[in-house]
Amino acid sequence: MYQANNKRYEQMVYNRVGKSGLKISALGLGFWHNFGSVDPYENQKAIVHQAFDLGITYFDLANNYGPMPGSAEENFGRMMATDMKPYRDEMVITSKAGYDMWDGPYGEWGSRKSIIASANQSLMRLGLDYVDIFYSHRPDPDTPIEETALALDQLVRDGKALYVGISNYSGAQTTAMAKIFKELRTPFIIHQPRYNMFDRHIENDLLPVLREIGKSAVVFSPLAQGLLTDRYLNGIPTDSRAAKSSSRFLQPEQVEKTLQTVRKLNAVAITRGQTLAEMALAWDLRQPEIASVLVGASRPEQLVDNVKALNRLSFSDADEKAIADILLV
Ligand code: NDP
Repeated sequence: MYQANNKRYEQMVYNRVGKSGLKISALGLGFWHNFGSVDPYENQKAIVHQAFDLGITYFDLANNYGPMPGSAEENFGRMMATDMKPYRDEMVITSKAGYDMWDGPYGEWGSRKSIIASANQSLMRLGLDYVDIFYSHRPDPDTPIEETALALDQLVRDGKALYVGISNYSGAQTTAMAKIFKELRTPFIIHQPRYNMFDRHIENDLLPVLREIGKSAVVFSPLAQGLLTDRYLNGIPTDSRAAKSSSRFLQPEQVEKTLQTVRKLNAVAITRGQTLAEMALAWDLRQPEIASVLVGASRPEQLVDNVKALNRLSFSDADEKAIADILLV
């Protein structure tokens, strides 16, 4: 039986989410890859145990994570019914609805029908009465935003979610949603956008909005799916995301296109006494609106490395300039 490390809260940093009462670990664990029906369950358990032992309290799921869609929630649900069960109240467990999940017009996007049905399915797969945060995974161009907001609000009123969040919404869409949530008094606390050295679109669009409305972000793909690590410095390993046929989101061409830049960034990381992964995570966390970076991991050791980012979070002006110059190229 798994026994959590009793020193787990000593090293981790916990950041307040906006002006809410909730704090989350500065690193969160994502279940998009490596937790599907194609992935060995023993390794999944080892990753979750390692995360929790390192003080990670934020666990990020969605209806469709797999493959097969839904299997990441089922696998995590199995852990929550067994060795993680005693720790439920030490964990922030999240899910989302919005991307393709089941056939027909209700299996995706942001209608009330879709959001509520999907949340009910997620709770069944997870074997939980409630999730801590439920997200609208993407804005729906065809559904009035009031409808999506009211569906999320309903989940809170029904006791199926404690807080709500939105993901992949632009700054303007976030302002509009926040206004409705304020009127409804919905506990909307968090946004989940992509942010990493290769994708900085939120810096001028979303982050100023979050600052103004007092909300936080938990950012996804902070390592650009593994590009911003030493994973590909000597070629594409057969067990890496870029090589796996079960993942179509990172292609070998992207590795080749970014390799020169990655090598230069790696050299800066070495001068800072960090791995590139550690530096890339610290670089995200230097934004005050970012409460947590949401990493993926294919093995427990990657998390041990990633958490070391907390040992050096600050950047000198010279580091900032060196990185900015490399990213401009
Ligand atoms: P990352 O950018 O952190 O990439 C994770 C991958 O990087 C790992 O699978 C591993 O690749 C590699 N890696 C991680 N740590 C190290 C290390 N220390 N050294 C070397 N390689 C390392 O995040 P993801 O793209 O996986 O996204 C994280 C989470 O964000 C998802 O699981 C999901 O929960 C969420 N997300 C949300 C989205 C949304 O629309 N809201 C969209 C996408 C993600 P390898 O497998 O090759 O070992």
